[in-house]
Amino acid sequence: MRIRLVVLAVLSICLTPFLVGQIIGAQKERADAVRNVEQGLRTSINRTRDFLMDVQADVENMASLIAANDSFQRVPPAECSENLNKIRSMDKRIEHISIMTPKAVVYCSSTSSAEGIAAQGPSKHFKSIRHSNTFWGDIHYSSISNTVVISSVSVIKKNDKVEYLVVISLTVSALRNDIFDLFQVPLGKAILVNGKGETLDSAALAQPDLSFDQTTIDASSSIEAGIIAPRTKDETASYIGVVKLPMNDARMLFSTPLKGVYSREDQKLGFAIVISLFEVIILAATVMTAIEFFFFRTLRKITKLASEITSGGQGQRISVKSPFPDFKVLASALNLMVERLDDASKLDSLTGLANRRALDVHFEHCDRLLADEQTALAVAMIDIDGFKRFNDRFGHAAGDNALQQVGRTLRRVARRGTEIAARYGGEEFTLVLTITDAAKLYAYLDSVRQSVEDLAIQHPDSPFGHITISIGYAVASPGMTMRQTVEMADAALYASKAAGRNRVTAGQASPPIAADI
Ligand code: GH3
Ligand code: MG
Ligand code: MG
Repeated sequence: MRIRLVVLAVLSICLTPFLVGQIIGAQKERADAVRNVEQGLRTSINRTRDFLMDVQADVENMASLIAANDSFQRVPPAECSENLNKIRSMDKRIEHISIMTPKAVVYCSSTSSAEGIAAQGPSKHFKSIRHSNTFWGDIHYSSISNTVVISSVSVIKKNDKVEYLVVISLTVSALRNDIFDLFQVPLGKAILVNGKGETLDSAALAQPDLSFDQTTIDASSSIEAGIIAPRTKDETASYIGVVKLPMNDARMLFSTPLKGVYSREDQKLGFAIVISLFEVIILAATVMTAIEFFFFRTLRKITKLASEITSGGQGQRISVKSPFPDFKVLASALNLMVERLDDASKLDSLTGLANRRALDVHFEHCDRLLADEQTALAVAMIDIDGFKRFNDRFGHAAGDNALQQVGRTLRRVARRGTEIAARYGGEEFTLVLTITDAAKLYAYLDSVRQSVEDLAIQHPDSPFGHITISIGYAVASPGMTMRQTVEMADAALYASKAAGRNRVTAGQASPPIAADI
């Protein structure tokens, strides 16, 4: 648990400079974003200025065309009005086109209901007549269309005499919408002010924005096309773009609030932090899983086996997959230990033959084979003759040595899969043999007996002069257990002893001895 916390702590510490880097980066990006806003607003303002100049030129061209084409004035007012209405409908920004008499009475108009009406406030018409060109008036309220418009008045002369005036009015709201499309930065609010600083038109856009204060409006009066940067660049600040209309002294003011810019940047930072945290969690989980898999799991296997061994248990071999070579070395050392302990638990330490415990386990295995009738087995019980006297004469160490020699001889006898040579206890041994030819079993065991005699271990107190063994054997007939077979072989051994020792006796149920022996 502690190491997991350490991993988490280390990863968190590693994350800190990364997060600090992210925050510093975000600050820089905020500054860049503000610079981009300023640059974008400047470009948009210049475009707006160009756009307005184009509008002015378009309107003046249109007025010259109408002036040059006297079919407008030569037809009856109703037809003239219809023609003007057709022209007007081609451009949604045009609010109305009228042709007036020099006295500013409407002769015909795209809004035919205006026919015969004298223009209110005719000063700009007379100014136009005086200058003999196109004159743009102030932005004003049109009683014809009930909208805020900006109008131009152009003079139509014939023989130096003012014949008619062409009035073209533009809808400020349509102009404004075209202008908004030119902006590549988010706008908060836009207003239109006249030369006196009075607001004529205003539009709040997508983002709510504070109203323009009078100081800003006053400051804008000296700007043709430019921007007013905020004193502080905090979240409540806005950049103001200003463009003067080329037609008169009205100005348009546009505000771009920084709030939206900052919140976008903050969102980006928040997203980056969430991604980083997510990455750290994934990394931590991966590292911890790797540590768990390659370290703790292996360590647990090793310590479990070690504690099984130390508590006297046997333990199972373990297989270790770990990138740490020390673990592999430790595991194979323990596996070797398990193998040695396993061997030691099965072998008799003096003779190296299977011990009684291993023999009992082997009997269980043999019982299963017998039950399946897969194998024919025989058991031989072997006892050294007069061994007490041998010990008494030569001592225990010599007795041990003799036991080892007999053991070595017997080990050579049991070689095949299910065969075993075991020390049954004291100076008694057991052989389990697989039978290929039962008739030859006696001869085979007698040769074993002979081999021990051939060791020629001096035993002056024996009637044979050297160490000999007595053997009793039995064949496991169908339905018999190993234990029963052993008892039968034991009885046969007893018979061998009784018959004078150094001989082989078959158990009662065993087949008759082959005739040639
Ligand atoms: P018999 O011919 O009837 O088998 O006579 P015996 O003397 O061999 O039989 P007994 O059972 O009287 O004596 C067995 C002896 O085997 C007693 C003991 O001293 C000896 N013996 C048993 N185990 C060991 C051992 O591990 N080492 C030694 N040196 N002697 C052992
Ligand atoms: Mg004995
Ligand atoms: Mg004996």
